[in-house]
Amino acid sequence: MGGTFDPIHHGHLVAASEVADRFGLDEVVFVPTGQPWQKADEPVSPAEDRYLMTVIATASNPRFQVSRVDIDRSGPTYTVDTLRDLQAEYGPKVQLFFITGADALQRILSWKDLDEIFELAHFVGVTRPGFALTDKHLPADTVSLIQVPAMSISSTDCRARVARGEPVWYLVPDGVVQYIAKRRLYQR
Ligand code: ATP
Ligand code: MG
Repeated sequence: MGGTFDPIHHGHLVAASEVADRFGLDEVVFVPTGQPWQKADEPVSPAEDRYLMTVIATASNPRFQVSRVDIDRSGPTYTVDTLRDLQAEYGPKVQLFFITGADALQRILSWKDLDEIFELAHFVGVTRPGFALTDKHLPADTVSLIQVPAMSISSTDCRARVARGEPVWYLVPDGVVQYIAKRRLYQR
């Protein structure tokens, strides 16, 4: 599951847990982006902070892992590179799935090297409040759509709440609340 994770929240974690259960996945690998090319004009927190928050949020789940492939590669993050690197790391016998929310799935057609992306991984699109889940124009045999418990949470809203001095308790894991405070993230 790729994402900016700025910060990681319970919407990400529920989606990952549901897909892992539904597809019988051995592991979910959370991959914080390096420099997200879709977010080039928005300020994004340092990769190391986003990586550490992802580690904190997933540490208690033995099936959740965090990969540094995207933050250790220089330049903008493209999913095709993420999948190539993970396949090389895990070996040819491992089947990759790419978990994505409905909003990201809608934009997938604009991604670089789409044909290769679909060869490298089976895509799982999950429901997200406020976005229609559709695989229009996407190849049906490489994309599955599943319904997950609706969590109306976004990182954008979490950042805005912190900036306004409002709580993010229970939107993000406790350790992430504390990490945000410790590093003074998202404060104006
Ligand atoms: P931002 O508001 O900064 O874009 P975000 O909440 O959308 O943050 P991302 O890191 O951009 O989080 O998302 C990573 C992946 O998780 C994307 O595929 C996104 O669609 C999915 N996702 C994020 N929030 C949810 C949610 N509440 N329910 C389901 N999927 C989600
Ligand atoms: Mg997003």
